[in-house]
Amino acid sequence: MSSVPKPPHAALLDQVPLTAQELVYLENLMARTFATTGDVVMMQAEAIAALEAVALSVAGPGVRALNIVTGPYGDGFGQWLRRQGAEVLDLRFEFDSVATAAAVTQAIAEFSPQVLSVVHAEAATGGTNPLPEIIAAARAAGVLTVVDSVAAIGAEPLLVDEWGIDIAVMGGQKSLAGPAGISAASVSARAWDWIDNNPAAPQNSFLSLLDWRELWLRSAKESVPGMPNWLEARGLIAALERVHAEGLDHVIERHHRARTATLAAITALGFRYWQQSEKSYAPVVSAIGYSATHRVENLAPLLVPNRILSPGNGPLAQHLWRVNHYGQFAHLAPLQEAFTALAQELGHDPEHIRHILQLAWDEGQ
Ligand SMILES: *Cc1c(COP(=O)(O)O)cnc(C)c1O
Repeated sequence: MSSVPKPPHAALLDQVPLTAQELVYLENLMARTFATTGDVVMMQAEAIAALEAVALSVAGPGVRALNIVTGPYGDGFGQWLRRQGAEVLDLRFEFDSVATAAAVTQAIAEFSPQVLSVVHAEAATGGTNPLPEIIAAARAAGVLTVVDSVAAIGAEPLLVDEWGIDIAVMGGQKSLAGPAGISAASVSARAWDWIDNNPAAPQNSFLSLLDWRELWLRSAKESVPGMPNWLEARGLIAALERVHAEGLDHVIERHHRARTATLAAITALGFRYWQQSEKSYAPVVSAIGYSATHRVENLAPLLVPNRILSPGNGPLAQHLWRVNHYGQFAHLAPLQEAFTALAQELGHDPEHIRHILQLAWDEGQ
């Protein structure tokens, strides 16, 4: 008698909704990941929703915002700030480079912003902005800081309280190797004051940070507001438990090893990095520039089957491809698998590349 195979996702069925205790537990895990003792606002949606909620909460008519643009996400953030009526100065850098603290300091002096927004690590361009320096420059001028750490959290150090970041946004799906359906923002006391005094901040809206504060953070935390996204919430709990069981510092170090190993393999294969300066290479994604000999057509067969390699986003697809060495790919084995396939495709010795990756991985950051 043949038995019916168990559906692979059966464990996801018939679960009880998220309890208030589980939500408190998830919040504590997120706060620990942000290195904050302050509030964490959970958003039951992918990180773009949390970023938009934050932009709409801090911006409004009469607000001056300095928005650092080193990739497409910064561009999008500036558009939300403008749509909300803020006066926005986009401080733009070429997408094959990152911001400098000197340029940010000068822009703060010239523009006198009240709010500064910046992306931490750029998954789209493979660059990491010098966040501690940028935050220090903003704080010295009393500017409220907003950081998109969706890709960076888990790959770069992010010390929300110690550095004095007012709002940082995280997602589960990048370096934390979790699901994409829950995101969150850390909110400092100063940021709450700002939002309380911003008449344009959304209320009675899915994108309202204030609603979540009233309905949950300032409640007795005995019942979860609305219908919680329990599958995603439990998935994120599992991912964050795994991160903290390994040790956040260790997970970060593993991402840096993945970057070092990728750099060695890429160099051995004769590719050119997209980012101009090695100092700005991100531990989440390495972006490889196309050249006359290595066009997208050569790589196309490799891009689809293994998600570790992907084309650039949107218009960047014409310029670069990405090695997404974050989350589940920030390990030696998947890098070796991807790069030996790539070496074979390009007529290089795959064993040589495997060895180079091993050596660089062992060498560390
Ligand atoms: C991935 C990412 C996000 C989330 O955006 P999606 O494209 O929807 O995954 C936001 N900001 C940054 C910097 C990211 O890397």
